Amino acid sequence: MEPLSRLTPDAARALAGVIFDLDDTVLDHGALTEPGYGGLFRLREAGLALIACTGRPAGWGEVIQRQWPIDATIAENGAVAVVRGQAGPASGAGYQGALARSAGGGRVALLDGMDREARRARRAELVALADDLVRRFPAAALADDNDQRVTDVTIDIGEHRQVPPEDVQTMRAELRERGVRTLLSSVHLHLTLDPSDKATGVVRLLSTRFGEDPTRARYRYAFVGDSGNDGVAFAAFALTFGVANVRAHLGKLSVPPRFVASLPMGRGFAEIAHRITELRKNAPAP
Ligand SMILES: [Mg+2]
Repeated sequence: MEPLSRLTPDAARALAGVIFDLDDTVLDHGALTEPGYGGLFRLREAGLALIACTGRPAGWGEVIQRQWPIDATIAENGAVAVVRGQAGPASGAGYQGALARSAGGGRVALLDGMDREARRARRAELVALADDLVRRFPAAALADDNDQRVTDVTIDIGEHRQVPPEDVQTMRAELRERGVRTLLSSVHLHLTLDPSDKATGVVRLLSTRFGEDPTRARYRYAFVGDSGNDGVAFAAFALTFGVANVRAHLGKLSVPPRFVASLPMGRGFAEIAHRITELRKNAPAP
């Protein structure tokens, strides 16, 4: 990983947008701070599209999409997206017929690839598995954000609980044998039957809603993150950044971010935003 001082004006100027993780990247232990939120405004003022990309629930995505200065939110590790406006037919290509569930007068829409009934049945299967796991691994508990989820189930391993890493590994191995995919963030173990991850979720959204060529999108958008479920995006995008706390998760990342901030979480995100925006300001016109 390189320090932010090594980022070049050309690289900063070539960007069309920034994709960012929430937990422990913009948020500090779940809380929004002034530096973190300020970083979003600086990037937006610099003319960049902003896309939140989180393992958090679709319901949370809907709230921040209504309130924050961002263009789209990818939730549940890439399985669904929340956008402003209606999900018209043109938006559906990457979402297998794109169920669009418009909320609150059609101002935001949830993009999903499955209809509601199929989703409910699929999720009920995961809930039964998660219930069984937390009974047998008492250090773990169902995460408190499950009610707002559409596609996956989360077990709290580091948010309000501290689950030993060996228990997490045993749970993951059991789930894998049952054909369930697991993704790990700094706070949650996610159980899912969907094939999506943060990288595929972002590329699908960018190509269907933003008209980006899928390959080119990997060069026009930067990704900022901190932990295990960001690894696929660190591998997929050309320009990637970690906040300083990413160092604690390097063992779980097959590809580290290219640049790393000196500060953690929201302050690290602000530092990255500052560096990108200063370079865009000072760069000579192309
Ligand atoms: Mg995170």
